Amino acid sequence: MNYIILGPPGAGKGTQAKNIAGKFGMVHLSTGDMFREEKESDEVVSKLLSAGQLVPDEIVVNMVKKHLEKDDIIKKGFLLDGFPRTVKQAEELDVVLKSKNIKMEGVLLIDVPFEEAVKRIVGRRICVCGASYHMTLLPPKEDGKCDRCGGKLFQRSDDKENVVRERFAVYERQTKPLIEYYEKSDTLIYINGLKDEKDVFAQISSCIANGL
Ligand code: AMP
Repeated sequence: MNYIILGPPGAGKGTQAKNIAGKFGMVHLSTGDMFREEKESDEVVSKLLSAGQLVPDEIVVNMVKKHLEKDDIIKKGFLLDGFPRTVKQAEELDVVLKSKNIKMEGVLLIDVPFEEAVKRIVGRRICVCGASYHMTLLPPKEDGKCDRCGGKLFQRSDDKENVVRERFAVYERQTKPLIEYYEKSDTLIYINGLKDEKDVFAQISSCIANGL
C-alpha cells in the first residue's frame, strides 16, 4: 500500500511517517531527509533549505522518480513524506504512478494551526542519530544531550523562528492548493494533529488498517 503524508511544518509528519512506515512495513521516502543529506555537498540546495524555500520541482521530481524505479520500494509500498509540495509535483507524480500502474491509497493530511506548529518547531532539538526532542514538551534527561546516544543536540538551521515563518508562507502559497487537488480526487483523509503523538499515530494507523 502507498500513502502520502501532508501537512504544514511542525505537524509532526516526519515522526509519524517514520513510525507508521515501520508499523506497516512501508518504505519511508522523505524528500526533506534526502536534501538534508545532500546539503553538505550541494551549495544551491543548502541555501534553499536554510532560507526555508522550496527546491525546484524538476530536481525533486527526478529524485523521487529514481526511488520509484526500485523494485523493493514498489513491492513493500511507500509513504511519501514532504512530497508532493506543489500542484506541479502532484501532477508529475500522478503521471509516474499511472505509467507504472501504481495505486495511491490515500493522502493523510495532518492539520495543525500556525501558532501551535511554530511553538513545536522553534523548541525542537535533534541529534545526528535521528532522535528528536523538544525543549519543553519532550526535554532530554540531560540538557543538550541525547538520551539515546549521548550526542550533542542541535537546532535545524531551518527551525529558527524567522525561517519557520518563511516556511509557513511557502506552505500557504505553494502547498496548500494540494488540499483542493486531492479533495477533488477523493483521496484526502483528515487527521487531527492537535492531539498528542500517540493519538495521531492511532488515528493514522486506524485509517490505514481500515484501508481508507
Ligand atoms: P521537510 O523536512 O519536509 O520540512 O523539508 C525540508 C526542506 O527540504 C524544505 O523546506 C525544502 O527546502 C526542501 N524540500 C523537501 N521536500 C521538498 C519538495 N517536495 N519540494 C521542494 N522542496 C522540498
